[in-house]
Amino acid sequence: MINIPQTEKKRVIIVGGGFGGLKLARKLENSNFQVVLIDKNNYHQFLPLIYQVASSGMESSSISFPFRKIVQSKKNFFFRLAEIRAVFPERKIIQTSIGKVSYDYLVFAAGTTSNFFGNKHIEEVAIPMKNVSEAMGLRNALLSNFERSITCAGENEKRELLNIVIVGGGATGVEIAGALSEMKRFVLPKDYPEMDKSELQIYLIEAVDRLLPGMDKHSSVNVEKYLRRMGITILLNHRVVDYKDNNVILENGDKIPTRSFIWVSGITAVPIGNLNPSVLGIGGRIQ
Ligand SMILES: Cc1cc2nc3c(=O)[nH]c(=O)nc-3n(C[C@H](O)[C@H](O)[C@H](O)COP(=O)(O)OP(=O)(O)OC[C@H]3O[C@@H](n4cnc5c(N)ncnc54)[C@H](O)[C@@H]3O)c2cc1C
Repeated sequence: MINIPQTEKKRVIIVGGGFGGLKLARKLENSNFQVVLIDKNNYHQFLPLIYQVASSGMESSSISFPFRKIVQSKKNFFFRLAEIRAVFPERKIIQTSIGKVSYDYLVFAAGTTSNFFGNKHIEEVAIPMKNVSEAMGLRNALLSNFERSITCAGENEKRELLNIVIVGGGATGVEIAGALSEMKRFVLPKDYPEMDKSELQIYLIEAVDRLLPGMDKHSSVNVEKYLRRMGITILLNHRVVDYKDNNVILENGDKIPTRSFIWVSGITAVPIGNLNPSVLGIGGRIQ
């Protein structure tokens, strides 16, 4: 039961308390609406810094802010921890993981999720980095691979543990590649003195002919230059098609051994279960 009083005020439901949803919620603070913010997490996430969490540069608590603190003592304002399941526009009702709730206005601001372009196997095995908990998962995976590399006996296994493969040369891939390179240079020599840091290799793989393909060419040239200087192996015009036996498989048949297979190669809108695909446009956006 969602437990929100029915009043004479019109109800605005905002699904998703990211930058968009939260901004609107704040704008409606002193309005004449009853505002209901629904999010599947009970905290707002500052996504631009999750690469710092993934590379152990920051604690997750520094970029996660409880919604209850944000909406504290606000009148006509309700937060509910729930996931949206379906929308019934003709009845002005949404179905959530904690029950149904009616609305006068519905704002869908649930953001995006990683796009695996239909490759179910990669979706199962790759490590995404699209929210705070995924960034923590990535950090834990990297740190446990570093630990194991110190005690493992075989050279092949060691290579798998110390190769990091990042797929996707957009802003997120570039950021995490740079942060991991700094970690290699400044943190590992102190925290892992037994590790030969030259054995840690970072690969950044991009399907088109330049990094940051959404930005101007000047940025692409500069970022490639800096990252190469930082020791990152950049593969352009290379498409990753699979991951088998601890190897990333490229379209040309090449393999890169790794147990740190990071997928940051694109995003798509968070889907709502029952929405008719005909209302969805590019990237799953509602048209
Ligand atoms: C690694 C990274 C770095 C970035 N760096 C920058 C940057 O430097 N500068 C910049 O301008 N932008 C940056 N961005 C992009 C920016 O974070 C997004 O554009 C912005 O967060 C989008 O806001 P939003 O409100 O649409 O969605 P989001 O911020 O993604 O918020 C969506 C909210 O919806 C919730 N939600 C999702 N699904 C459901 C569901 N089914 N039911 C209920 N709730 C749900 C989520 O928990 C979340 O709180 C970065 C993004 C990433 C991933």
